[in-house]
Amino acid sequence: MKPSPFTYHAPESIAEATALLAELGDDAKALAGGQSLVPMLSLRLAAFEHLVDLNRVAGLNAIERVNGHLRLGATVRQATAEHSAEVKSSVPLLARALPHIGHFQIRNRGTVGGSIAHADPASELPAVALALDAVIEAAGPGGTRRIAASDFFVSTWETALNDGEILSAVEFPVWSGRCGFAVEELTRRHGDFAIVGTAVGVQVDGDAVTKATIALFGVGATPLRASEAEAALMAGADVAEVARAATAGLTPSDDVHASGAYRTQVAAVMVRRALTKAIQEARA
Ligand SMILES: Cc1cc2nc3c(=O)[nH]c(=O)nc-3n(C[C@H](O)[C@H](O)[C@H](O)COP(=O)(O)OP(=O)(O)OC[C@H]3O[C@@H](n4cnc5c(N)ncnc54)[C@H](O)[C@@H]3O)c2cc1C
Repeated sequence: MKPSPFTYHAPESIAEATALLAELGDDAKALAGGQSLVPMLSLRLAAFEHLVDLNRVAGLNAIERVNGHLRLGATVRQATAEHSAEVKSSVPLLARALPHIGHFQIRNRGTVGGSIAHADPASELPAVALALDAVIEAAGPGGTRRIAASDFFVSTWETALNDGEILSAVEFPVWSGRCGFAVEELTRRHGDFAIVGTAVGVQVDGDAVTKATIALFGVGATPLRASEAEAALMAGADVAEVARAATAGLTPSDDVHASGAYRTQVAAVMVRRALTKAIQEARA
């Protein structure tokens, strides 16, 4: 099928893009890599009278170090981030998550900002943003504001962005010291969305885990942090115990791919595997 007719806009500045989105309201949608939006339009699962293409907006495609963070502009392609030496060394968890997204053709067009703004609960990058306490920069007609990742994901495909706002950048904190990171997920076939997955990070000092983060995806309407399990890991619990704690309160729903009970059980296996790898890496 083909999308319903729409008017295409190609603004060249953030001010122009956000003014258009504010003025056109619910009839308009931002277009980034098009890897989620275009299939939805083509299948007529969504229809908009106006598409506001962000790809020509100046200043949205840089990767730079800013105040202990790595800042990625909204339209940085997933493939660009995946192959960036700076991303690999500064935010290894992001580098490890990216190859799990679809296929390379998808990542060649799909953007980091688009994935986070789209907020699919089975997506890897929202979970990485949550795990690392990333900061999301939103730009609107009135200027910019900063939103903690923990406040950004509201529900399935729903974020804290207001009408007329775009996600202009994401800032990922750079961890230092002896660290390890891992992403584990279960998919039916390579390139499919995850049935369930986890993104974890640890920092160690000798045998002690001094910092830990565990985020889960595919188990609820948004990515979820397992804060109690993180505390248990830092208090010396073993990874099997931590994995059980991370998944104890989950209530994922049943769907055609898996029952909620299966998702919970597999999530615990993913957390155990990911933490084992991350701790080994940090201690190596
Ligand atoms: C076959 C296939 C397999 C895939 N597999 C995976 C997978 O395994 N994991 C995964 O995470 N994703 C997967 N994807 C989705 C892919 O990662 C998309 O690229 C991503 O979800 C959206 O990014 P985009 O740049 O393409 O955004 P678009 O498709 O252009 O936009 C998606 C939505 O986000 C909004 N949006 C985009 N950018 C902004 C912005 N800067 N500010 C405000 N709103 C914005 C748009 O308005 C739209 O509502 C897959 C896609 C396909 C087609």
